[in-house]
Amino acid sequence: MLRDGHGRIARKLRVSVTDRCDLRCVYCMPERPVWLPRAEILDYEELGRLAAVAVAEGVRQVRVTGGEPLLRKDLDRFVGMLKAVPGLEEVALTTNGTRLADQAAALRSAGLDRVTVSLDSLEPETFKAMARVDGVADALRGMDAAEAAGFGPLKVNCVVMRGVNDAQLGDLAEWGRRTGRSLRFIEFMPLEGDKIWSRSLLVPAADIVNAVTARFPAVERPGAAGATSVTYDYADGRGSFGVIASVTRAFCADCDRIRLTADGTFRTCLFAESGTDLRGPLRAGASDEALAGLMRSAVAAKGPGHLIGLPSFHRPDRAMNAIGG
Ligand code: SAM
Ligand code: SF4
Repeated sequence: MLRDGHGRIARKLRVSVTDRCDLRCVYCMPERPVWLPRAEILDYEELGRLAAVAVAEGVRQVRVTGGEPLLRKDLDRFVGMLKAVPGLEEVALTTNGTRLADQAAALRSAGLDRVTVSLDSLEPETFKAMARVDGVADALRGMDAAEAAGFGPLKVNCVVMRGVNDAQLGDLAEWGRRTGRSLRFIEFMPLEGDKIWSRSLLVPAADIVNAVTARFPAVERPGAAGATSVTYDYADGRGSFGVIASVTRAFCADCDRIRLTADGTFRTCLFAESGTDLRGPLRAGASDEALAGLMRSAVAAKGPGHLIGLPSFHRPDRAMNAIGG
């Protein structure tokens, strides 16, 4: 069991399969990224083995992420490997959607349970201001293909930045209501490569909720423990939206998440300043029990929560794309 010193048990594992990406979102990637060396990236067998060890220790859900996971070749093969792990209840994917149109059907056949797509704006100019490249049309095509393949209703992640896309929240919500896709608006966290984060760029969850409900009245749904997102049901019954208030209403007290980076670093918090190397022991022939022991020790040392906004807050040693969101 992966139990920490604050009464929390790890049930959800995020596996980053690559730090590479076809977009360069300003809130995530540096403009000129330096990629992890290829020799340090774990192959699917290695990632799958570490995931299986975590599942044997009580993890029940794996979310495949990155970087952009669909840049990694034959991702459906990795999904199939995860689905074969006894005891694993769900395999999900977070993607920017630009390559989803070509891969959705294969991922579905491999057994992928759920897909979350990220989209910060429906306006090509705003999208480009955030992603530094075009991509709206491809992401929308990807969502259509995912639904056609049987994924759905889709959740759509949207990072909100003051003065960039915050005037478009009502339009995004309207689009979500019309298409049956549920927006999840995310507060901008200080994890980006180019260190542009400031309070003035953050739109607090309360402002996000006000902006959406001014146009579409909605009621907060009582939350489930461990949920990162607070859900609001539209008063007219036409769906819901969510808000992830990682900065202003940290959900650390219920956190049941752990992370494995593409180069085999085990991280117990998105904001951990560093992680535990599992690649070295794995490649040196460590047993499953030894790897489980390293995971148990790391989780046992997990802190109570992040400290964004406090003087003692220090950024992690790498940007979001190299951690795995
Ligand atoms: N490339 C995929 C994507 O964009 O969906 C998966 C990886 S991305 C790191 C995972 C999620 O983290 C995305 O929804 C993205 O918007 C979000 N994200 C990245 N950087 C963030 C930040 N600084 N604050 C809040 N959310 C962030
Ligand atoms: Fe790429 Fe996702 Fe980061 Fe955007 S948020 S740069 S799509 S990894």
